[in-house]
Amino acid sequence: MTLSVSSDALADAKTIPRALSASALQDLWLKMLHDIEPKLQRSQFITWFKDTTLLGLEEGTLIIGLPLPMFLNWHMEHYRGMTLEIAQERLPDVRQIVYQVDIALKDNPERSVNLLDHFPEQKRRKVQGKQEIKLAEGLVSKILNPRYMLDNFVIGANNRLAHAACLSVSNQPGGKYNPLFLYGGVGLGKTHLLQATGNAILKQMPRATVVYTTTEDFTNQVIEAIQHQKMEQFRKRYRLVDVLIIDDVQFLANKERTQEEFFHTFNALYEERKQVIISADRPPQELNLEDRLISRFERGMIADISAPDYETRIAILTEKAQEYEMFLDQQVLQFIAEHATRNVRELEGILMQAVALYELEQRMPTIKSIADILRKLNKDPYGQEERIGFDVQAKRAPTYQEMLECVSRYFSVSVQDMLGQSRVKEILLPRQIAMFLGKKYLRATHVHQGEIFSNRDHTTVMNACEKIEAKMQTDPQLLREVRAIEQELGFV
Ligand code: ADP
Ligand code: MG
Repeated sequence: MTLSVSSDALADAKTIPRALSASALQDLWLKMLHDIEPKLQRSQFITWFKDTTLLGLEEGTLIIGLPLPMFLNWHMEHYRGMTLEIAQERLPDVRQIVYQVDIALKDNPERSVNLLDHFPEQKRRKVQGKQEIKLAEGLVSKILNPRYMLDNFVIGANNRLAHAACLSVSNQPGGKYNPLFLYGGVGLGKTHLLQATGNAILKQMPRATVVYTTTEDFTNQVIEAIQHQKMEQFRKRYRLVDVLIIDDVQFLANKERTQEEFFHTFNALYEERKQVIISADRPPQELNLEDRLISRFERGMIADISAPDYETRIAILTEKAQEYEMFLDQQVLQFIAEHATRNVRELEGILMQAVALYELEQRMPTIKSIADILRKLNKDPYGQEERIGFDVQAKRAPTYQEMLECVSRYFSVSVQDMLGQSRVKEILLPRQIAMFLGKKYLRATHVHQGEIFSNRDHTTVMNACEKIEAKMQTDPQLLREVRAIEQELGFV
């Protein structure tokens, strides 16, 4: 590689013999960057094109300036071909690209292009084609989340049967797999599969009435119908459904009236050959429900989902990293997969933290930064031998902020939402759990917590704490969730 331009000489643009002025070169580079940007993940683009510039264009050779030696190999290996093609689209005479490292380019906006100014962060790419669900009047369905698709669900030995069953149901609702019953522990992908199946059905049959409901919502509707003496309407409405998806039926336990209504709805739909899809945290025979309901569930297809093995965890991380447009080094990926073993939500949580770190500080995740994240979650990534140095930190009580972050990660809601005004269920429950933990373990007073949570009244905090405490007695899932968070924070 011959370089005809030295970096010293470049400091004084007037002394350099070349066809284009420094500003024309910058201009050209900016245009090329606009062509390059859509071809790369944002994190890669920002990382590898930050502080770069065009140093010269001489006799068919384009000279690109890089701010650090480590950029050189990477560009030569990954970007040289693409950059040449893009250059040739604008300047057909360009025949080759050469690179020159000049550390004076680093953080020097006068000489290199300030990428963050020219390419501000846009909202994250959303999955296209959010479905609009048309429902008969009065029917309530949570909007199916378009993020959940059958083809972004990573298949492994742990979930192959469940995925195949969902795929089959999506092609032939009301067919041979009816009802479809999926079961498995927290964070293993039940809700993802249920919603993805609904989405797939709606895609093929946009006029179908697909209702996804959590068991809690269904229960609330029954209660409301009873209160307002509108049971007949409630029944009629549900008989109009083509596909009924009901998540987490273990929560029907001890709700006799709702079980009865569900039993009748189920029968009516089943007889009409309408598809019913059910999820729970355990197999039908272990559910604490009426026998007649359990035997209905056992009539169809039952598939379990267990925790993913190492290879599947790697595949899931790779998929999620792509969804979040996050470039992760293979070794970092492996490191996360080795240490986040319990469920997919945990895996995603760590990845999200790495994304946050990247967005805040523009730092690519390294093994060390991931180890720091794991350590904050009280997961010592280095095992016994190297523990000594970490012990003090691991045993120190978490701060209030760390508790909030842990709850937010666990439920995949933001701390900001938890502290805010929204009363949607997905946020309400994590908020109440945070208040409960704050009181129980961090000795935060109701008044103080009220202030933290958008100046709520102290009685609201008190009610939340009492509600969680009482509900944990009767609700095994809530108990498990709270225990998992307590464990992560080292409270128990
Ligand atoms: P569950 O309902 O079983 O508690 P979720 O469906 O809410 O679990 O899954 C938790 C998170 O993990 C979701 O963001 C989901 O997209 C993701 N997830 C779980 N399994 C997979 C998988 N096999 N492939 C891709 N994402 C998955
Ligand atoms: Mg779920």
